[in-house]
Amino acid sequence: MSACTELSYNAFGERLNRAGARDRIPLAGSIEVTFKCNLRCVHCYIPDYSGRNEMSTAEISRILSEIADAGCLYLLLTGGEVLSRADFPEIYLRAKRLGLLLTVFTNGTLLDERTADLLAEYPPHGLEITLYGLSDEMYLRTTGFPGRFTAVRRAIDLILARGLPLTLKAVAMEPLADEIAKMQAFAESIGAHFRSDPIIHARLDGSLGPTTVRPSPERAVRHDTEDPRRLADYLRYYREYVLTTQPTHLLMSCGAGLSSFHIDPHGTLLSCEALPLNGYDLRRGTFRDGWYGIVGAIRGREAAATNVCASCELRALCDRCPATAMLETGSPDGWVPYFCEVTHRRAAVLEEKMGNAEKAARFRAHAEKVASGWTPPGAVLPRATPFLAAGAGCAGGACATGCGKSATKTHATQLLKIDRPRTDPASQKEAVP
Ligand code: SF4
Ligand code: SF4
Repeated sequence: MSACTELSYNAFGERLNRAGARDRIPLAGSIEVTFKCNLRCVHCYIPDYSGRNEMSTAEISRILSEIADAGCLYLLLTGGEVLSRADFPEIYLRAKRLGLLLTVFTNGTLLDERTADLLAEYPPHGLEITLYGLSDEMYLRTTGFPGRFTAVRRAIDLILARGLPLTLKAVAMEPLADEIAKMQAFAESIGAHFRSDPIIHARLDGSLGPTTVRPSPERAVRHDTEDPRRLADYLRYYREYVLTTQPTHLLMSCGAGLSSFHIDPHGTLLSCEALPLNGYDLRRGTFRDGWYGIVGAIRGREAAATNVCASCELRALCDRCPATAMLETGSPDGWVPYFCEVTHRRAAVLEEKMGNAEKAARFRAHAEKVASGWTPPGAVLPRATPFLAAGAGCAGGACATGCGKSATKTHATQLLKIDRPRTDPASQKEAVP
């Protein structure tokens, strides 16, 4: 009998991910079951909260079967607000029965006894509630509605009373700059995990409204490097992945579309939630056709000659990627000064911690140059004038754009091109090639 090697869960996960990426198995995915939400957060990337033309229960159910069949193991159910779908229990149980390891993201405000009981009876792999403050007053500023922290606090108690593991998280946006440490202390006081992130990208329709609540580059770097645990994680990552970065001729450097995928509420399969390229309409075709077809093709796309990031030594440390560039500049090859400055400031701190004063000074000088308005020659830049999209969110919410346009009028550009199986217009059936 051969001896079995014992592996930690993390080591097992790493091996699994490597194998998944090598064989292009869609191991991990996320599905936005709706864009509907009962909040209107100032940094939100959703352009339309109406829920128009979203997938039915039957469509989601069929797609869940297909992704499980294709090898998916980890699935994130997210939104919008997942609990604004009345059929959430049905979707959740369907995914559980298929054996998927589920994580649920929610803002917590609609989580009642019934949902808490469901989660207790069929526990998720992970449950994450996003906090937008620690008081009803702060929630009014960040989400546009009064009384919401009280609702979240009640939801947290319901979850804790049932002994479910809970993660609380926050976006370290400017209005919450002084609250992050307090939120962390709150999470620790109730035995919940906590994480926060300062990264905010443009809205899915290209509006730059959400970027107005980004923390300053200096503050974003302080957030990343002042907490000893976060700093240690960054240093580990920097040594392992950033210092070994090589120039590439390809557009994509991350894992999107290799072993991970995303599905939006309209049934569009994408490599990443924020990259509106190479989409596939799952309402008209199967998951396998999309995954092994147009969605996979994005991995082979070459970086454009104007893509100054493809040869950057700090690329793996940077939050500029084809998705964030596309939303902010209109091109997946674009360059985003905010991310460039943050990354160089972050790298300067990490190099300093490793005792490399000279390299740190070089990175800091580059950050200063970017801050003073320098742009790389030929790079595609963020739009000089943001095109502001007036979505359904204008109806009474805290609109981040301040555009003042009518809620019925959208002046956004359609960014996403979706591959649809060819249809024979006469019969309305798919054409046989
Ligand atoms: S960011 Fe806020 S408004 Fe947007 S989906 Fe999440 S909770 Fe809703
Ligand atoms: S934005 Fe700047 S730091 Fe980021 S990858 Fe591009 S060149 Fe490098």
